[in-house]
Amino acid sequence: MDRLQDIKSYAASLGLVHTKNELEELIHEAENAEAGYATFLCEVLGSEIRYRQNKARERRIKEAGFPYKKYLKDFDLSFCQSITKKQLNQLSELTWIDGIYNLILSGPPGVGKTHLAIALAFHACEEGYKVSYTTMQSLMQVLRTQEIDRRSRAKMNRIRKSNLLVVDEVGYLPITATEGNLFFQLISELQEQTSIIITTNKGFEEWAEFLDDVALATAILDRLSYRCDRIQMSGKSYRLENRKSFLQKGAERNEIS
Ligand code: ADP
Ligand code: MG
Repeated sequence: MDRLQDIKSYAASLGLVHTKNELEELIHEAENAEAGYATFLCEVLGSEIRYRQNKARERRIKEAGFPYKKYLKDFDLSFCQSITKKQLNQLSELTWIDGIYNLILSGPPGVGKTHLAIALAFHACEEGYKVSYTTMQSLMQVLRTQEIDRRSRAKMNRIRKSNLLVVDEVGYLPITATEGNLFFQLISELQEQTSIIITTNKGFEEWAEFLDDVALATAILDRLSYRCDRIQMSGKSYRLENRKSFLQKGAERNEIS
């Protein structure tokens, strides 16, 4: 039927990708449901919008650059005693991103800093916020090379346009004076426009040490802390508590031999 072809080419001209690709199915469903004209048109336009929103959501998640996915629903509050259910609910509501607040998650390895940071950032992506994830190490590399490397420049442009930036693993590796200054410039630049989640294994008093500069550490922490909540995550390492092993137990080995 060339009507269908006409509709498809109109849809293509209007950029209605979903309508073009699913036209037969949409018509088939409307016929089965004996839908009226208004219902049918509403369904066509509605499904096009849902398709676009899904696509945009997937793109936001892909471009955020998560190393893996973590979810808020899997974050076990009975294991992590440093956050109350009420606080986690407040964080999940994401109004702090609208208010451009920062969040510093500090504590030793394995207590769930990265899990919580990624889960919040992933949730923000789903809710329509633009998010960028990076480790401190990779951020330093990108900042150093943004003038000469197109990919670094693209990454920095994305960071600058994000509603939320996650900088994971701050303080694990020492950084040079130049890198420290570039980091300070970035934090200053983002302070009125982007929320930042920092995860760190260092207490504030140790920042001077890994930055090797007291004045710079004070300046960075001053900027970050202005509108900020800090969660000191303590306790046991989830990794060590839930260690998975592959070797057979000693007793079983004795039984075999
Ligand atoms: P950190 O970044 O503090 O070193 P991670 O967030 O990487 O620790 O956590 C280590 C592992 O333990 C991850 O697989 C994470 O999903 C898990 N984990 C840590 N804390 C929790 C928690 N409270 N509930 C569920 N899983 C957790
Ligand atoms: Mg981590």
